[in-house]
Amino acid sequence: MIFSEKHELIRKLARDFAEKELTKDILDRIEETNEYPKELLDKMAKAGFFGIKTPVKYGGQGSDMLSYVLVIEELARVSAVTTVWVSAPNSLGGGPLLLAGTEEQLQKYLVPVAKGEKIMAFGLTEPNAGSDAGATSTTAVRDGDYWILNGRKTFITHAPVADYCIIYAKTDKTQKGSRGISAFIVDMKLPGVSLGKPEKKMGLIGAPTSDIILEDVRVHQSDMLGEEGKGFTNAMKTLDIGRIGVAAMSIGVAQGALDETIRYAKERKQFGRRIADFQEISFMIADMATKLQAAKELVYRAAQLKDMNSPDATQAASMAKYYATEVCNEIAAKAVQIHGGYGYIKEYKVERIYRDCRVFTIFEGTSQVQKMVIANTLLKK
Ligand SMILES: Cc1cc2nc3c(=O)[nH]c(=O)nc-3n(C[C@H](O)[C@H](O)[C@H](O)COP(=O)(O)OP(=O)(O)OC[C@H]3O[C@@H](n4cnc5c(N)ncnc54)[C@H](O)[C@@H]3O)c2cc1C
Repeated sequence: MIFSEKHELIRKLARDFAEKELTKDILDRIEETNEYPKELLDKMAKAGFFGIKTPVKYGGQGSDMLSYVLVIEELARVSAVTTVWVSAPNSLGGGPLLLAGTEEQLQKYLVPVAKGEKIMAFGLTEPNAGSDAGATSTTAVRDGDYWILNGRKTFITHAPVADYCIIYAKTDKTQKGSRGISAFIVDMKLPGVSLGKPEKKMGLIGAPTSDIILEDVRVHQSDMLGEEGKGFTNAMKTLDIGRIGVAAMSIGVAQGALDETIRYAKERKQFGRRIADFQEISFMIADMATKLQAAKELVYRAAQLKDMNSPDATQAASMAKYYATEVCNEIAAKAVQIHGGYGYIKEYKVERIYRDCRVFTIFEGTSQVQKMVIANTLLKK
């Protein structure tokens, strides 16, 4: 794809930031301490990364989805976890607000989120409602001007550090499946909100994750997000954006893996030759680069269709997420293989890359769920 001057400039700004600020020392420290690094996050906020797509009047940069993809891609090329921090306010946290927030809610919640002053998490998944997210068993029962929330949300990114969380809860139990679900903006300091233990994850260290437990939490009617009963639609529309974001992480991480692999294959010698000179290795690299290019085209296309509000955007987002995340995992595995034993050692970048990207085919809808969405768009009519 050929980019406009504006998009090339955005890519360059993100690349320069990543190469200057995401140093090996900082990234290694995050990995070792599981730290949520305030200083780096402040710099990212100052660079405008937390409100890329958010309109200027709500504290953001007012750019488009393609710009968001390019920023995520360039950051992910150096560090996957930083893109989880960026995607939260831009998609899963800010997305539901932008889609359904009242002017008052947007001013109160979206503005500080887009500026990086507050953190908004996204609480959809439950212990028994993962891929089948519509099977939500968290409930919200009306009590005058309040709703009383009870339930448990699981694997919620940023829950341990979040100020607020969008919680999806069943408000009408007479409705079956995903109907009768509403969205609420829940202040994490409200009485009755508590956290499960922080999860010890395989990768993306530095993006804390835990359950959120809701016990008789009183949420004011003014914090219902969107219309009563329309919460599931809000969640699914949010995931259209989120899936493009994960696809963008994937092409960035895969590019990082490919860059490292090419460098290593030209350096490493065995049998008196560079390993890059063995046809098996060079063909693996050719394969990685070709599949990555195909993935990139799908991701950029999905972003453009989203920017155009195209009816094909949902299908395109799922195709991009499905293909890019699978290809990223394949490339990361080959990168480790080409590094031989060194690829298994933490000092080498591909070791972290391999662990970080494993979850890309799982969160925000597994690859199987993406295939269900794609098949539905093709076969339902
Ligand atoms: C690190 C991390 C961060 C996360 N962050 C968030 C967050 O911020 N907010 C949030 O709400 N959730 C979050 N999640 C949850 C994530 O979205 C879910 O884990 C994911 O949707 C899968 O649900 P599950 O884990 O319950 O797996 P399951 O749904 O139990 O799936 C298990 C397996 O069965 C397959 N499967 C299920 N149904 C079908 C079917 N109909 N046909 C074929 N195969 C099927 C799946 O593809 C998968 O391979 C996060 C998860 C992780 C690991």
